[in-house]
Amino acid sequence: MSEKNKIVTVISPLLPPLEEFVPYLQKIWDNKWLTNNGEMHQELEQRLAEYLGVEYISLFSNGTLALITALQALNITGEVITTPYSFVATTHSIFWNKCTPVFVDVEPNYFNIDPAKIEAAITEKTTAIMPVHVYGNPADTDAIQKIADKHGLKVIYDAAHAFGVKKNGSSILNVGDLSVLSFHATKIYSTIEGGAVICHSKEMKHHIDNLKNFGFRGEIVVEEPGINAKLNEVQAAYGLLSLKYIDDAIEKRKNIVEYYRSALNKIQGISFLKEQSGVEYNYAYFPIFVDEAMYGISRDALYEKLKANNILGRRYFYPLISTFEPYKELSSAQNLPIAQKAAEQVICLPLYPDLEMTDVERIVRIIK
Ligand SMILES: *Cc1c(COP(=O)(O)O)cnc(C)c1O
Repeated sequence: MSEKNKIVTVISPLLPPLEEFVPYLQKIWDNKWLTNNGEMHQELEQRLAEYLGVEYISLFSNGTLALITALQALNITGEVITTPYSFVATTHSIFWNKCTPVFVDVEPNYFNIDPAKIEAAITEKTTAIMPVHVYGNPADTDAIQKIADKHGLKVIYDAAHAFGVKKNGSSILNVGDLSVLSFHATKIYSTIEGGAVICHSKEMKHHIDNLKNFGFRGEIVVEEPGINAKLNEVQAAYGLLSLKYIDDAIEKRKNIVEYYRSALNKIQGISFLKEQSGVEYNYAYFPIFVDEAMYGISRDALYEKLKANNILGRRYFYPLISTFEPYKELSSAQNLPIAQKAAEQVICLPLYPDLEMTDVERIVRIIK
């Protein structure tokens, strides 16, 4: 294929060398232990806790079940305040807990939930807030916690984009009541499918571990209606191996992001998010925002133009969750102008460790 015709996707999974995976598989075969908190699973929990700088982590079979179980673990009922500018699983997890999602608009700098608009959405039925660290940019956790404390609300962060992100030297996963990660193949760190809940006490970890295993406490006692959301040994082993490559992967992503930033800096009508000071990023995504009036063509026209050149950007997050069939009739689904504008302007550009500089340059040329 010629350079021009090469297909460049928005992401490409981080696959560790196959021959390095074989010894892990051999060990699993020797142990004859395939799932249910095996050796690999226990080791991965320990390694991830160390790597991320958190105390308690429970692995899950995917991020969506981790979100659903996080709400279960805190007995969340009634209404949950959340953001429409996210992946649809954020809101689905609220719905699956028989709670009503209440959408609050985002702020215009990072497109995270706007703390200044949260209090107006609180009713006597509100029990929790579920913000998202969109693109790995920390939400305003101090302001959110203040509101939560004042009104007695729980805070569950959808931190699916925030693997490894630190603020002022501390993991962003250490704030709030619970944080949830996704290790899906499209995320920067993956177990193919997978996820985790981060909590802050041994008791809560036990509770969450029981919930993800049908509610069993011991061999014959079931204390609550749990689910099956366990991560198996083969995927845990994949996670252990991938972890050896994550720092290198983040470094490579950083170089690409820095190139994008400098190359796209002065284009009329193309903007991107500023970096927050004191934040250690994971460079998970590189969203650009197209202002049609200034740039000359619309976001969708640029998206199609890139596609015609085999550059497959993605419109994360478009459409807004609040416009999807199950949620569009909610009264809070209206009047979300900042989220709406972001959804109409965004394109996430290709970004993954093996992305070649020649392709990055080609992408920049097309945009220019
Ligand atoms: C990927 C993602 C999820 C869902 O995680 P899965 O592991 O795919 O179930 C939830 N929220 C956000 C913001 C995500 O990006």
